[in-house]
Amino acid sequence: MIIIVGIILSNTETYDKSDKLSIVATTTQITDLVSIIGGDVVEVKGLMGSGIDPHSYQATESDVRSLQQADIIIYNGLHLEGKMTDLLANMAKQKIPTYAISDAVLNSKLMAGEDDYEGSYDPHIWFDANLWLEVITYVSNILIEHDPKNKDIYVINTEKYLEEVREVHEFVYNKAMEIPPQKRVLITAHDAFQYFGRAYEFIVLGIEGLSPESEVGIADIRKLADYIVQNEIKAIFVETSVSTRNAKALQQAVKARGFDVNIGGDLYSDAMGEKGKDEGTYIGMMKYNITTIVQALK
Ligand SMILES: [Zn+2]
Repeated sequence: MIIIVGIILSNTETYDKSDKLSIVATTTQITDLVSIIGGDVVEVKGLMGSGIDPHSYQATESDVRSLQQADIIIYNGLHLEGKMTDLLANMAKQKIPTYAISDAVLNSKLMAGEDDYEGSYDPHIWFDANLWLEVITYVSNILIEHDPKNKDIYVINTEKYLEEVREVHEFVYNKAMEIPPQKRVLITAHDAFQYFGRAYEFIVLGIEGLSPESEVGIADIRKLADYIVQNEIKAIFVETSVSTRNAKALQQAVKARGFDVNIGGDLYSDAMGEKGKDEGTYIGMMKYNITTIVQALK
């Protein structure tokens, strides 16, 4: 009996070397959010970097080790991390607290996914800054629950960040209103901007579906090309985490119809910009995207 207690104690000692809460996050958006709320009192590791498509991302061996050693795992959910579903479920089974940020949002506020069954939802929730506010509070509560001694720090960081994200919501909305309503049409490489469109009043059309791996048929390109010509859309957009091939094909199809559509720029969709740059933060990404969109469509 004494020996068993001894082993448990020595194990606890090794785990307690760092008393910082260790969090593993999947996407760049979540890593940014957790780092801001956690500040100096947490250790955050993000598995996916800039330019990574989370729909097709496969966890590496070192990712699996990081996940196994985490105090908490935070991921997007709604099948955004489509190739990690089983792995994340497995971590939860191993009693590692594993949270999907999409659980912060009521089903009634989620948009439909492309699969025709109930409970299939669009995972790109970060693009409505108002929904992101709910995610911020949700993540903050998770950190407080697992590390109550630092509650005051989390609360202060959360209050400040909620204010900044509220401001960015206003900024994006006001910028969007600079474009006349009939020109507020956002055509992007894949269907990541539905929440953005709902929040900031754009008609949104993706060349590829909700996941960039979905097939794009010639008929889809034709239909979009006709739409662009009929509505005299000035620009379409590529995304940093998606191949530009289909956007270029669409541009060619429009050209063949005697009309020119520009590539309006690179948008950050499922992955933010590089760490250390403005676009490597949620706030910076939101500002960069709307500025790029307005410049190209105005
Ligand atoms: Zn996506």
